[in-house]
Amino acid sequence: MNNTTIHDLRITVADEDGTYRTLLESTKAIPWKIDWETKKFSYIGPQIEKLLGWTQESWLTATDWIDRIHEADREKTANFCISQSIDGVDHEADYRALKADGSFVWIRDVVHVIRKNGETTELVGFMFDISERKKMEDELLSLNHKLEVLALQDGLTGVANRRLFDQTLKTEWFRSQREHQPLSLIVIDIDYFKQYNDRYGHIQGDECLIRVAHALNNIPLRSTDLFARYGGEEFVLLLPNADLNSAIEIAERFRAAIQNLGIPHEASKAKDVVTVSVGVASATLASDSEPASLLAEADRMLYQAKELGRNRIASK
Ligand code: GH3
Ligand code: MG
Ligand code: MG
Repeated sequence: MNNTTIHDLRITVADEDGTYRTLLESTKAIPWKIDWETKKFSYIGPQIEKLLGWTQESWLTATDWIDRIHEADREKTANFCISQSIDGVDHEADYRALKADGSFVWIRDVVHVIRKNGETTELVGFMFDISERKKMEDELLSLNHKLEVLALQDGLTGVANRRLFDQTLKTEWFRSQREHQPLSLIVIDIDYFKQYNDRYGHIQGDECLIRVAHALNNIPLRSTDLFARYGGEEFVLLLPNADLNSAIEIAERFRAAIQNLGIPHEASKAKDVVTVSVGVASATLASDSEPASLLAEADRMLYQAKELGRNRIASK
């Protein structure tokens, strides 16, 4: 291998002053060449030692290459490269390469297959260190995930937002129809909240909203139930597989929980603490309506609870 000349890499340009060799051996792309019949490396750039820690001389055959692929990537990468090489197809493979110190580096191997008379004779390629790119890809993925979570979260209270609720209502409504299961919906609205803001200021109003949201969100529910801020001082709770009676029970727990928080509300005509009114509705099994009508029904019940004096629940 020490006697390898630049001609081995089929660079046919005259290279008397070694310009091309210097270029090839100083670039970040690490050149290599394998004889297909013997599977021996006839060349590998000296940069490989700096990148992976293995000496240039330690790359004897394709087996050395395969052995230095991360176990989890090894079989897939080797099988892919071998089959492409047999078929004479140029290809690229990303994998983690083992370093001499036991750690791993993400590599992209770009492989050109040389053929003679329809038979593969040599492979010439470049290895690139793509660890930075992989790191950025991972960061982007996790950022994307965070954004997806944020997009479904209410900015003020941190509970689920209307977008997630609307999506879930649709899915659960169709599921309940398909599986002939009941679906119940609870709408919760803070009483005299405009007066609360007027009396205590908007910032304290926000704090009150946060406390109410957290108190409701912390009430233990089934994992399929969804509590969300619908907007303003209005919250919703979707209860799949719950009939009207169990929904009424939960609604009463919600109402009591807020009254028991005991947040002073001197301007309320319902009580001297912050209270909520609650509307409850349930989709019947033979319902021929749609998700929106369940919401409209729960809203009508909420209106009734307000009419009847607030700090109470109404249901149908
Ligand atoms: P009701 O008992 O009939 O529900 O009366 P209400 O005053 O609660 O209802 P109304 O719809 O008249 O007023 C709702 C108030 O909620 C008005 C609005 O300023 C306030 N509000 C809505 N969103 C927010 C918010 O994010 N922060 C604060 N501080 N106030 C909000
Ligand atoms: Mg209100
Ligand atoms: Mg309201």
